[in-house]
Amino acid sequence: MKQVNIVLSIIILILVTSCKQEIKEDIKIQDNASYSTQKKSDVFYHYSIWWAFVNKVFEGDITAAELKSKGDMALGSYNFLDGELIMLDGTLYQAKENGEVSIPNDSIKVAYANAAFFDKDGGFSIDKVDNYDGLRAAINSKLPSKNFFYAFKIKGDFKNMKCGGLHKQEPPFEKGLDVLIPSRPIFERENFKGTMVGFYCPEFIGNINVAGFHFHFVSEDKTFAGHVMEFEAENLTVEFDEMNEYQFVLPETEAYENVGFDKEFQYEKK
Ligand SMILES: [Zn+2]
Repeated sequence: MKQVNIVLSIIILILVTSCKQEIKEDIKIQDNASYSTQKKSDVFYHYSIWWAFVNKVFEGDITAAELKSKGDMALGSYNFLDGELIMLDGTLYQAKENGEVSIPNDSIKVAYANAAFFDKDGGFSIDKVDNYDGLRAAINSKLPSKNFFYAFKIKGDFKNMKCGGLHKQEPPFEKGLDVLIPSRPIFERENFKGTMVGFYCPEFIGNINVAGFHFHFVSEDKTFAGHVMEFEAENLTVEFDEMNEYQFVLPETEAYENVGFDKEFQYEKK
């Protein structure tokens, strides 16, 4: 590997003007004092970039332990696409391609991740949603703004859920996410409880991240997890954390040094 150490850690400060006054009255927010003392936590941490991940940069150089120092909630994937990554309340989970869910060792490497320290800025309840679109619409009608980044924790009773996994890849990697995601393993379950963990990025994020909503999931009994594809749910409790700082860290790997950004892939945008 070349001894070129390129560390790009870019913090984008977005719209420093406070939007707190504009939050709708039906959304409970923390008082201003506690908001300002927790300002240090309003950073969206992003390891690698979506465009690199789509283009087969499937090996990262940070560990699970390092990721845990960047947030207590996260989504992403492990090296070689060895499962979907979900972090909830400081505990990391690995949902493997056979559907097995486990707590990985702290030394496992991460290929791609979004993370944050969750400080609740607001929340609301939703009685019932028939599908993912219903949840998107409900959140869109409640969010203070579409121009900030948000982290979410959404608990509920799930009548059914379809989660996607990832097939583990061996180098040299041949297929990018544009091919792998449409043929991903799919896991389904009915009538159970769990928590969706995810993020919202404004459209202007482009290919740096997933534009719109991206959720991963872990069941209350920690036996079912993955990338949320579709569901029907009741009694949802939505909590969100608004973030106005964004930090992305690029992998110091040969794969990243040489990646060509020729393929594009985004989930269906709503
Ligand atoms: Zn995902």
